[in-house]
Amino acid sequence: MPSDRVVLCTDLDRTVIPNGEQPESPQARMLLRRFAARPESTLVYVSGRDEGLLRNAIRDYDLPVPDFAIGDVGTTIYHVQGDDWQPLDAWSREIAPDWQGMEGADLAELLRDIDGLRLQEEEKQNDYKLSYYGPEDPRPEALLSEVRRRLKDNGVRANLIWSIDEQAHCGLLDVLPAAANKLHAITFLMREKGFGERETVFSGDSGNDLEVLVSSLQAVLVRNAPPEVREEAERRAAESGESGRLYVARGGFLGMNGNYSAGVLEGLAHYLPHTRDWLESDS
Ligand SMILES: [Mg+2]
Repeated sequence: MPSDRVVLCTDLDRTVIPNGEQPESPQARMLLRRFAARPESTLVYVSGRDEGLLRNAIRDYDLPVPDFAIGDVGTTIYHVQGDDWQPLDAWSREIAPDWQGMEGADLAELLRDIDGLRLQEEEKQNDYKLSYYGPEDPRPEALLSEVRRRLKDNGVRANLIWSIDEQAHCGLLDVLPAAANKLHAITFLMREKGFGERETVFSGDSGNDLEVLVSSLQAVLVRNAPPEVREEAERRAAESGESGRLYVARGGFLGMNGNYSAGVLEGLAHYLPHTRDWLESDS
């Protein structure tokens, strides 16, 4: 490996994919592809998407193919080589103990017949992610405490993620191993592959990136992030003494606006200035 290696771990939706309301600078994704084409660079996508939706995003938005992809809300890590996506078994072994040897289908048995919960389609499930539809209620406390109780009674340590699908007018529940999250998956991959803290940068835009944004990792918040996410990230980073490791993109880098990929590359050059030369060279 070259000594000036750079590892970029990045969220996809509204971070490198311009699917938000703000405009994207025209050259932003071309420069991201130029970065990814460098022999010194390692690219890691970190997303809630599953393998199929990750592949769709890469194709539909002409994104560079990554070296690794953390998908399914942090429950799967893929080693990507061209068209071949291999799940890292070591990651499954890392998170499996939380579920006491059970997999999603076993937990579904424990949660059978809970009023208001309906299993999502087969392709949305995997060994360590169990997903349901539920009521369009921002905080269905009784339902969630019943889920928690049944899992706890069976020794299962789980992380419940509740969100609302405003278009479909329903709630969404993901049941994950307690240890499976974006931050843990990234630090696990860094340890497994020997990526150093000074050569690794994370970028994101929203609430589900906060834990990584305010961690001790070098992090970038793109300029199109919602103001409340920016405020919370800045406050929490300051509280934990990590303000120096949170860069908020402001625009102006290489004539771009700081939104999406432009903000990612701006932050990358903030921590690792030699990457700017890679973008400016026409090779
Ligand atoms: Mg996002």
